[in-house]
Amino acid sequence: MHPSLYIVDLALLIDVGCFCTRYPSSVFYSILSSLILAGLFVYGTWQHFPTPTSSARLYVYVALGILGLTTLLELANYLYRNGIFSGRGAPRALVSFLSKKIPGESVPRITAANIQIILPRPVHVEPGQYINLWMPSVSLWLWTQTHPFTIISWSRGRQDTLKLLVQPRNGFSADLVRYGALPTDSSVLFLALFTGPYGLTEDVDPYETTLIIATGFGIATSILYLKKMIHGYNICTSQTRRLYLIPSVCALTTVLRPTEANEKEMILSISIYVEHGLANSRIPVGKYERICYYQGLPDYRKIILTEASGSQIERLPNIPDELGRTLVMVSASDGLRDRLRDIVRGYLHQGVELSELEYQPE
Ligand SMILES: Cc1cc2nc3c(=O)[nH]c(=O)nc-3n(C[C@H](O)[C@H](O)[C@H](O)COP(=O)(O)OP(=O)(O)OC[C@H]3O[C@@H](n4cnc5c(N)ncnc54)[C@H](O)[C@@H]3O)c2cc1C
Repeated sequence: MHPSLYIVDLALLIDVGCFCTRYPSSVFYSILSSLILAGLFVYGTWQHFPTPTSSARLYVYVALGILGLTTLLELANYLYRNGIFSGRGAPRALVSFLSKKIPGESVPRITAANIQIILPRPVHVEPGQYINLWMPSVSLWLWTQTHPFTIISWSRGRQDTLKLLVQPRNGFSADLVRYGALPTDSSVLFLALFTGPYGLTEDVDPYETTLIIATGFGIATSILYLKKMIHGYNICTSQTRRLYLIPSVCALTTVLRPTEANEKEMILSISIYVEHGLANSRIPVGKYERICYYQGLPDYRKIILTEASGSQIERLPNIPDELGRTLVMVSASDGLRDRLRDIVRGYLHQGVELSELEYQPE
């Protein structure tokens, strides 16, 4: 290959690297640049074959064949999932907004966008999975971007509506929540195509106790696990006997309002830690005290030790009842995850395990 082509290739590679670090969502730019780079690579390799009839060319044909086939399969899967050519129309996203009155602000601030994607073909979703969402009509340049969001709706079978919870940030999500300020109806409809669902799901059934620690929008990743575990407990398909959720206040006010939590699901307890402003150090809510507000910061080491001891599970006297394993699931900021890794490492011998979920908020 001519040396100048190497220089162009290298310059492009550096450029793509910088751009993708800055704008990870610009799918159009990164795909286009990857195609140009791949083309240059194949051309360079081709030029290095000693003779035009070299048998080494076979390897290039095989590689190109595999690339073509996988691209075609992916495209077919994409078109099938989005119901293109099925006559049922493309998926639509119905977006509504959650807002909160902030003291000193005249209009309520939008704290989250709720997206409901109405699918032309139902899909099966496991807890913790996410989709890459493409909503080109939200604003001018959004046709170049896709964004990953965790699915928060769960059903045992296939779902024909997917629910997502979006935190307002600065790019796509900020453009989206701007529609919440319009003086029209409270929900807006957009065209929305997606790929996925992607991501691994954690097998939670073998654990007797699951402790879920979520900060901010990490709660979105945990909701499906909670629903699945409560369902598994109700139909006796899982060994779960206790679920303990520690969300941050911000997440709770937007997603799990205390009055909506099902008190009868006796395996679920929720603790909310508030730094200041409580009249007492502990304020239980509801008849069964399944939800409790605490003043101060959680002592994670103490909490994990108490859960691992099994003392929070009601056990019948005189009946042998083996202590089960404990799973600590986390979707939280880097600093908190580091601390939890450190704590759990000390209790591995007591059957405590840590699972870091697919989405970790900053
Ligand atoms: C597996 C996974 C699941 C997620 N689930 C949720 C969820 O349920 N709810 C939620 O609110 N957020 C979720 N996120 C984060 C969400 O994808 C980003 O907040 C969103 O893309 C921000 O878009 P923006 O243009 O408004 O961001 P910007 O304001 O431009 O950037 C804010 C942050 O988001 C990051 N970001 C921007 N675009 C992308 C992208 N395409 N992929 C990954 N990160 C990006 C940026 O690096 C930056 O750190 C998830 C992320 C991942 C990786």
